[in-house]
Amino acid sequence: MDKDKKLTRLGILVCLGGLAILCIAFTFFYYSKPLYQAESGSLRKMGTVAHITVIAADKQTAQRCLDAAIKQIDTIENLFSYFKPDSEISAINQHAADSPVRVSPQVYQLIKKSIQFSKLTSGAFDITVGPLVDLWHNAGDANTPPTDEQLQSARALVGCDKLILDDANSTVRFAVSGMRLDLGGIAKGYGIDTAIEAIKNNGALGGIVVIGGDLRCFGTPPHNNKHWLIGLQNPNLDSPNQTILTLKLNDTAVTTSGDYRRFATINGRHFSHIVNPLTGRSAQGLASDTIITPLAADADAISTAVNVLGPEKGLALIKTLPHTEAILISPAPAYKLSKTPGIDLLIN
Ligand code: ADP
Ligand code: MG
Repeated sequence: MDKDKKLTRLGILVCLGGLAILCIAFTFFYYSKPLYQAESGSLRKMGTVAHITVIAADKQTAQRCLDAAIKQIDTIENLFSYFKPDSEISAINQHAADSPVRVSPQVYQLIKKSIQFSKLTSGAFDITVGPLVDLWHNAGDANTPPTDEQLQSARALVGCDKLILDDANSTVRFAVSGMRLDLGGIAKGYGIDTAIEAIKNNGALGGIVVIGGDLRCFGTPPHNNKHWLIGLQNPNLDSPNQTILTLKLNDTAVTTSGDYRRFATINGRHFSHIVNPLTGRSAQGLASDTIITPLAADADAISTAVNVLGPEKGLALIKTLPHTEAILISPAPAYKLSKTPGIDLLIN
């Protein structure tokens, strides 16, 4: 009897041991199975260059994810473009002074989110900034700065308080004729977020979507790395393409706003494409600011706002935001770098 019990116990142990070995072998096989990496190459999207990488278990999944992400970015560009005459933003800009314009849920929600960011940033971020952006753009083309009068009349058309929204009907209306919405400070980030969702929903294990230097990554990085490695470019154009630091990231977004890539030159002076909605002047407080936070739309809006607010007010704002870190670089010629304490954990 005793011997039988011992044999049964031994049998169970052998079975359990076998099961454990099987589990280990399966885990080893599963994780050592080569992953497939698909690259989009350089794509022309949203007025700049985009790049997508997808990590998946097989080639078909990776390709499906890439296709879905590209389709998403095109959809967002067609909805939000300031320049495409048939975008929903153009429809608002053409008709919202005359009557309420009904928009799709995505556009309505991003306009609502933008207004929240306007409140959060004390008006530094403001999607009604269109007339001021156009004024500075035209000033660059004419090589003549705008007059005080021009600045004043453009400023009179700016302010989220002049937007009339109707939640029940998803309509947008302008309180003042001549207003124009410009979602250039948030749509790129939002496009990145929706592309990442498309990649996740199509079964990828990891991926990164980069549009014009703004990006979001998730999941498994390439080459068995633990993190996605993101180099931060020096905004000093005397050192072109120089990386000033490398961030090690997982599941987060990074966006940069600055005057070093897109600007107007008037009488030899550099004017940023970001404007201060409160003064009407082009932003001057920072050469660049980089924001790290989970959603790319949030990072995009915050980085534009911090560029307007400048270093002190900008860092004070970042401190109040959860899961948000920042790297600020002061204007030429100093290019002094300041950062939030959490950045040190991402670069070591
Ligand atoms: P980039 O487009 O170079 O990534 P940003 O994300 O900072 O830079 O967005 C800048 C764009 O946002 C401008 O080209 C303009 O369309 C718009 N914009 C400019 N100033 C503001 C502002 N104060 N608030 C919201 N949007 C702005
Ligand atoms: Mg932005």
